[in-house]
Amino acid sequence: MNQVDYLRISLIDRCNFRCQYCTPEGMELDYILKRNLLTDEEILTLIKDVFIPVGFTRFRLTGGEPLLRPRVVELVQQIASLREMQDLSMTTNGFLLAPIAQELYNAGLRRINISLDSLEENTFNQIIGNRGRSKWQLVWDGIQAAYQVGFNPLKLNVVVIPGVNDHEVLDLAALTIDKQWHIRFIEFMPVGNSDLFGDKGWIASSELRQQIRARWGLIESQVRGSGPADVFQIPGAKGTLGFISQMSECFCDKCNRVRLSADGWLRPCLLNETGQIDLKTALRNGVSITKLQEQLQELLTVKSEINFKQRYSGTATGNYSRTMSQIGG
Ligand code: SAM
Ligand code: SF4
Repeated sequence: MNQVDYLRISLIDRCNFRCQYCTPEGMELDYILKRNLLTDEEILTLIKDVFIPVGFTRFRLTGGEPLLRPRVVELVQQIASLREMQDLSMTTNGFLLAPIAQELYNAGLRRINISLDSLEENTFNQIIGNRGRSKWQLVWDGIQAAYQVGFNPLKLNVVVIPGVNDHEVLDLAALTIDKQWHIRFIEFMPVGNSDLFGDKGWIASSELRQQIRARWGLIESQVRGSGPADVFQIPGAKGTLGFISQMSECFCDKCNRVRLSADGWLRPCLLNETGQIDLKTALRNGVSITKLQEQLQELLTVKSEINFKQRYSGTATGNYSRTMSQIGG
């Protein structure tokens, strides 16, 4: 079995965007009440006393939109300064990033992924469900700020939606030529959003690679991430192109991660709630740290009951009602 040593921690389930592949407008969500959010202290205790001793080495802060969490910089600073912390990163939509990029860096964060699904304002607004003032520029400012401050690697996540932003694949890929940015094209997944998915499906990474290869050529990159992306490079480019192909090349058998929701549910798999543990209630009820470590070890043995192939073909029977923003994508 694959070693599971990577925890994605949702800091908050709320978000200032309504991305159509994640929490489309009109979708009713039951937000977590403030009293049910894991506190900063609980997050620190879980990382330091439960996950690290069990062998976890990598932690990513996500959401919802993690930058909406009150006092997020202080929390990042506390997590980053844990003596045992080896690798801390964050995934954000970038909207609130520009003014605090330097503070986050000073707090000890070094790796950041920013979602950027389009370079066109209209398409971007369509994807994030924005009818008011455009948010694209602020996200772009956030990316530039992160770059200036020195986040390295700086990764940009692109979910490719057929008929919506797939015409921009080459423009997005071109960003890696002059800058040491890493674009990661993610196949759109049916998580809590089956209606949209049913209409449009996903585009296989191999098709995107074909387009890019035809334009500039494409070589396998020497820079390998530790995640599920297959990494390539346009010859001579400063940055890289990663392809996360969970639909066309299901990598569930290599999965190395579990997810902690903002209200403390530890979930073994994006697709399946079976075996999940309520760590918040356990902590608040005084369950011992040793017992929590045992429960975590047990959860790691029940991973991967179903996979994306089964999910897409309709042969899986897991619970998929929670969106990425609720699970901690
Ligand atoms: N709000 C932050 C953001 O958007 O970067 C962090 C949370 S978001 C759930 C984390 C990542 O999940 C983003 O890169 C987003 O594009 C991706 N994501 C969300 N729903 C998805 C889906 N249905 N299929 C593939 N990726 C998805
Ligand atoms: Fe979009 Fe991230 Fe918010 Fe989901 S959590 S709606 S992917 S910005």
